[in-house]
Amino acid sequence: MRLLLVEDDDAIAASLEAPLTAAGFEIDHAVDGAGALQRIAAGGHDVVLLDLGLPDMDGYDICRAIRGQSTIPIIVITARSDEFDRVLGLELGADDYMVKPLGARELVARIRAVLRRSAASASDASPADRLVVAPLEIDLRTHRVYLDGEPVSLTPKEFELLAYLAGDAGAVRTRTDIVEHVWDANWFGPTKTVDAHIAGIRRKLGDHAWIESVRGVGFRLAAPGDRSP
Ligand code: CA
Repeated sequence: MRLLLVEDDDAIAASLEAPLTAAGFEIDHAVDGAGALQRIAAGGHDVVLLDLGLPDMDGYDICRAIRGQSTIPIIVITARSDEFDRVLGLELGADDYMVKPLGARELVARIRAVLRRSAASASDASPADRLVVAPLEIDLRTHRVYLDGEPVSLTPKEFELLAYLAGDAGAVRTRTDIVEHVWDANWFGPTKTVDAHIAGIRRKLGDHAWIESVRGVGFRLAAPGDRSP
C-alpha cells in the first residue's frame, strides 16, 4: 500500500514515518499542495493523508482539486478541531479527518477503515453496473450519473449516497443505515452531514421531489411523479 503524506511540518512527517512503515505502508511525502497534486497526477497511491494547513494552498481547494482528478481516499489532518468544517470537508470529498496530535495506532486504524470502505464500494459495483430509476441512471462502474441523458456532477460521497438510495428505490433507508453504508458506524455527528449531502444531491438533480424525507425515519428515492400516495 502506497500512502501519500502531505505535510509541511518535517517533525510531524518524521514522527509518522516509523509507525506507518511498520504498518506496511510505503510513504511518499509532499510538503505543499502543488507537490501533492503533482504526485497524485503521477498516480500509484492508495490513500492520501492531507494536512489542512499547507504553505501554498487552502486545504479545501486541495481536496477539491484532488477530487477533480481522482477517487483516491483522503484523510484530512488538522491542527485544531475547529479549523476543519466537517460538512464542507465531506462535501469536497474528504473521507475522514483526524486532529493533531496523531496517535499512530488510531491513525493506522483509520487509514485501514477508509481503505476497506473504498475497496467495498468498488466491489459492490461488480454485480450490476447500472442502477436505473428512469430518467435517472447511475453507472456504478464509472461513478457517473445521468439525468435525462445529461451528466450530473456529484461529489464521491453524494454519489455513494445516491447509489445507496437507488439500490432499493422506493424503499426508505434509515439515517443509521445511510451513515453505516456511506460513511461508517464510527462517524460521529452524522445527522447534519447526511442532510447536507441530501441537500446537495437534490440541488444537483434540480428537482427536490427525487428524494423524499420520511419524517423521523430517513429518506427514499423515487422518480418525481412516482410518489407513494
Ligand atoms: Ca501544516
